[in-house]
Amino acid sequence: MGSMACYIFPALSNLPLWESRSFIAAMLLHIGVSEPLYYCLHKCFHAKYLFTHYHSLHHSSPVPQPFTAGSGTFLEHLILSGVIGIPVFGSCVIGYGSIGMIYGYVLIFDFLRCLGHCNVEIVPYQLFDRLPFLKYLLYTPTYHSLHHTETGTNYCLFMPLYDALGNTLNSKSWDLHKTLLLNSGKNWRVPDFVFLAHVVDITASLRSQVFVFRSFASKPFRTRIFLLPIWPLAFTVMLVMWAKSKPFSVSFYNLRGRLHHTWAVPRFGFQYFLPFAREGINKHIEEAILRADRLGVKVLTLAALNKNEALNGGGMLFVNKHPNLKVRVVHGNTLTAAVTLNQIPKDVDEVFLTGATSNLSNCPLPLQTESTSDFGKWITPREQSWAPAGTHFHQFVVPPILPFRRDCTYSDLAAMKFPDDVRGLGYCEENPLYPPAGLRQRPLQRSPRYPVSHSEQGDYNLRTCPDLSRQAPLKSGLAQRGSIEPTPSAD
Ligand SMILES: [Zn+2]
Ligand SMILES: [Zn+2]
Repeated sequence: MGSMACYIFPALSNLPLWESRSFIAAMLLHIGVSEPLYYCLHKCFHAKYLFTHYHSLHHSSPVPQPFTAGSGTFLEHLILSGVIGIPVFGSCVIGYGSIGMIYGYVLIFDFLRCLGHCNVEIVPYQLFDRLPFLKYLLYTPTYHSLHHTETGTNYCLFMPLYDALGNTLNSKSWDLHKTLLLNSGKNWRVPDFVFLAHVVDITASLRSQVFVFRSFASKPFRTRIFLLPIWPLAFTVMLVMWAKSKPFSVSFYNLRGRLHHTWAVPRFGFQYFLPFAREGINKHIEEAILRADRLGVKVLTLAALNKNEALNGGGMLFVNKHPNLKVRVVHGNTLTAAVTLNQIPKDVDEVFLTGATSNLSNCPLPLQTESTSDFGKWITPREQSWAPAGTHFHQFVVPPILPFRRDCTYSDLAAMKFPDDVRGLGYCEENPLYPPAGLRQRPLQRSPRYPVSHSEQGDYNLRTCPDLSRQAPLKSGLAQRGSIEPTPSAD
């Protein structure tokens, strides 16, 4: 739209970079025209027909997040463009335009929209206590979140003044704002389980729900070409994390009244293979274990390379060093083994195992009638060529192997599915799109990089000998993901 405007109005190309009066003009047009216009149109959008056909999409996020600000129908985007356009073009038309104002206004506009949808209260209530008139000039995340839960109130764009004038102000707005801030931190709960992961690689970090886009986290192994320009930034973050960072919390969810946290060691996969980096990694893992112990966490699961045999003996290093740990330190190898074993049909004749076989070292593999192969490492096309025709490839570690053989079949990575009653997940993997609406009600899947906790099964503690059977780890209500039928290879 900006480019179109420049072609239609060539005078826009000659705007000065900075003009102080342009900011005043834009502000006056915003307060006098855009705000009341948006208020009236937004209220109209809540009439039955318009709401059902045009505005309900935006309200399908009962718990908003910053991206909800951009979630709307084409008509809403058109109207919003008009609302933004009035101060921008209005001030240019009356002779006070400037490039600084155009970029500044659009950036502030988008920032305030995202602020209103971020679902985290950050505006200090003391500000409104000292300067009460300010609460009519600037909304807060609480204010707009209330509009998403009680839709008949708080219609304004950014200024609650118009809700006050239109008698649509939610009376709870500022009390709730203050209560939330006063209680922040008080409701913190010690997690029951902690899953200690790490970053897989720099490209994968771009898909992390904390780092860039949560929707990309739903497709963990897809490479997005347009994310590559951000690669240098992710690389810099990796270096900063290597130099400074400590283990940090990434996400959480609730499963049947138990709180699960995912923490990350601030290291990337490749660093686990650098001999000089190992000591630092073990220090971080130990730090996380001791912190979990201090907090009163019941079980801590070492994930991915954090349980590497060569690094720390699958976690035994820490268990032996701190014999009085109250937190139980476990890892998911037996669960992976159970899932992989469950994928092997009973009539299979021959099983070939390679790679990180420690995952399956205790497996009582049955003799079977067809050929199958279990892979705990990435294998090349040449290695795949050694398998007889008709082989089915099972795999249980990342990265997934590429299906080169047309006369063979390949399974997905071993993974499990959450039961329907999981609550509070901030993202999901392998779902077609990140669905803000109803996300918290959906059954979600995760790849083995984030295996669901098996820690309710106490017998997986490193200190005890795991009693592995095909079904034992699957009894906690978690379902195995996918069918055990082979999937055809991709052409
Ligand atoms: Zn609305
Ligand atoms: Zn909204």
